[in-house]
Amino acid sequence: MKKRLAEPISSIKGVGDETEDLLNDIGIYTIDDLIEYFPYRYDDNSLKDLADVKHDERVTVEGKVHSEPLLSYFGKKRSRLTFRILVGRYLLSAVCFNRPYFKNKLTIDSTVTVIGKWDKHRQTITVQELTFGPKQVLNGIEPVYSVKGKLTIKGMRKFISLALNEFLDEIEEIIPTELLQKYKLQTRKEALRSIHLPDGKEELKQARRRFVYEEFLLFQLKMQTLRKVQREQSQGIAHEFPEESLENFIKALPFPLTNAQARVINEIITDMKSPFRMNRLLQGDVGSGKTVVAAIGVYAAILSGYQAALMVPTEILAEQHAESLSNLFESFDVNVALLTSSVKGKKRRELLEKVKNNEIQLLIGTHALIQDEIHFHKLGLVITDEQHRFGVEQRRMLREKGVNTDVLFMTATPIPRTLAITAFGEMDVSIIDELPAGRKTIETYWVKPTMLERILAFIEKEISKGRQAYVICPLIEESDKLDVQNALDVHSMLTSYYKGRYQVGLMHGRLSSDEKDTVMRSFSQNQVNILVSTTVVEVGVNVPNATTMVIYDAERFGLSQLHQLRGRVGRGSEQSYCILLADPKSEAGKERMKIMTDTNDGFVLSERDLELRGPGDFFGKKQSGMPIFKVADMVHDYRALEVARQDAVELVRSKSFWVEDRYEGLRMYLIQSGILNGEKLD
Ligand code: ADP
Ligand code: MG
Repeated sequence: MKKRLAEPISSIKGVGDETEDLLNDIGIYTIDDLIEYFPYRYDDNSLKDLADVKHDERVTVEGKVHSEPLLSYFGKKRSRLTFRILVGRYLLSAVCFNRPYFKNKLTIDSTVTVIGKWDKHRQTITVQELTFGPKQVLNGIEPVYSVKGKLTIKGMRKFISLALNEFLDEIEEIIPTELLQKYKLQTRKEALRSIHLPDGKEELKQARRRFVYEEFLLFQLKMQTLRKVQREQSQGIAHEFPEESLENFIKALPFPLTNAQARVINEIITDMKSPFRMNRLLQGDVGSGKTVVAAIGVYAAILSGYQAALMVPTEILAEQHAESLSNLFESFDVNVALLTSSVKGKKRRELLEKVKNNEIQLLIGTHALIQDEIHFHKLGLVITDEQHRFGVEQRRMLREKGVNTDVLFMTATPIPRTLAITAFGEMDVSIIDELPAGRKTIETYWVKPTMLERILAFIEKEISKGRQAYVICPLIEESDKLDVQNALDVHSMLTSYYKGRYQVGLMHGRLSSDEKDTVMRSFSQNQVNILVSTTVVEVGVNVPNATTMVIYDAERFGLSQLHQLRGRVGRGSEQSYCILLADPKSEAGKERMKIMTDTNDGFVLSERDLELRGPGDFFGKKQSGMPIFKVADMVHDYRALEVARQDAVELVRSKSFWVEDRYEGLRMYLIQSGILNGEKLD
């Protein structure tokens, strides 16, 4: 930014003290602030055929005065002036309030331009602006600025055009020339002019395109620079091990890896071998096979002489993981142990001793893993499954059980790629976007609650084939108590309906963890045929024999939660079904049900969810770390976001970005706008 642009707005000829105060009130202090104060929308004043204009819409017409204007007063000051205008082949009326002085100027056959609201039924325009002669505005597109107090939109237009007239030549390019050329972008100077004074729609579009890219590029440069700094300052473990040992483990798996699994494993192993600390998020839809990916990382750590820990949110899940990982490592020299709060007394002391002296290489457990009494010999890799279930503090405590430990977070809640790379800027993200071959899609139906009888019969048919079912109870927001009551009600209804034929179990958050375990165990051993539950069952549970998922009041759930719930079925070889009992009133609710029936793909679903809700809402209120862009929109401009991100990655990686003159402008801009600190640049 050149010095002159940093001068106060009072140095613009035509901006006095009073205006300066008004502009200061909306946060505009310097010339640069003013020039970068973008319109939030545009009025289209281009002349249109009236046939295309809707009732009550704002319209601009140019025509000839066709009748003597009639002036009538009501009250002392209020007046109405009516006259007829001939616009092309239309003869229409115009009404103009409280401007009696127009009467004498409106001579028959003179040309006027009128902007106003079109009343289609009365064929009348209520005049907002009237000019004598043809329209002057450039192609009819006028910027609209957000203003406050005495500041008017017209005033804003004037001050900005004064500033542009005087200072446009001071504006320097910040995007490197090769990128401008590559994407055929307007220069910064051109784009600033066009965003304020667009010469037609196409030019406006181009200006917008330029700023979308600029905003994303600057933002991504910041993220990528922070990441680089973090990485290079972080001490990590450079894991070392014989490649073929890891290869042998992979070959011994009961199935070939999917391409996506192979790709993310490569990303993880590369991180582990590097001297920097791994900080990686692994996203993969339910059933995409994250466990083996974790196992391979674990084995790499163990081969290089370290231990690994896997933390999961529930005891049941911990047991399931312990079992499947013990199987995978069976013929490899790895000791796996399970630590939960139910491991007590002497057994616990012995176990902790073994962890401490490296007799156990992989420890799997719940929060129990982060207790003070647990000491590892040499912890080299920490993995958390369903990472969103743990707090930041818990994850940090686990990581600090070792020194410079590599960290992998796994989640089955797909986040649209664009949001993932934006929101998790400080983490690297790996995505498994492919399911193992041969998976059956879960047939999903949306039915009205009045069909309950038929649903119950359907469940019965599945159970008679030996299958099992989940019934998820209505969700009452923010009321755990009511949720439990709902579960109790549904449970008693189903118990009496299936009396003497099937066992109906009950699961909810008010049960003790022992009680929950008992219920889950009898369900997974098929002693209970139908499990009525609140959403506590949402995470990770694996009962492959369950083929039907019924969700009450499905419209009350968010898409990602519905998807997680649906993921509890479809885990075995049989065809599975998900039935959404819902009668949504809102359009968005209907749309959610439709999306659920349309797709089984968690990533597609999350993209649609993002479109429905917008990025602000996507993470809920808590996540306010989302960047605010003036022009760019993460949802609609996501392609530009990906492109800008790639460019930023390459720039930050290249040595020349940090030293060469041609990037000076961009570097200085990043520093001056507070994105980078000078010190961090070398
Ligand atoms: P999630 O990503 O939901 O944690 P899991 O790791 O539990 O998924 O894997 C789901 C199932 O898919 C498991 O039974 C696992 O053995 C199986 N699986 C994983 N990878 C593959 C693969 N490449 N080919 C076939 N089956 C696989
Ligand atoms: Mg899993």
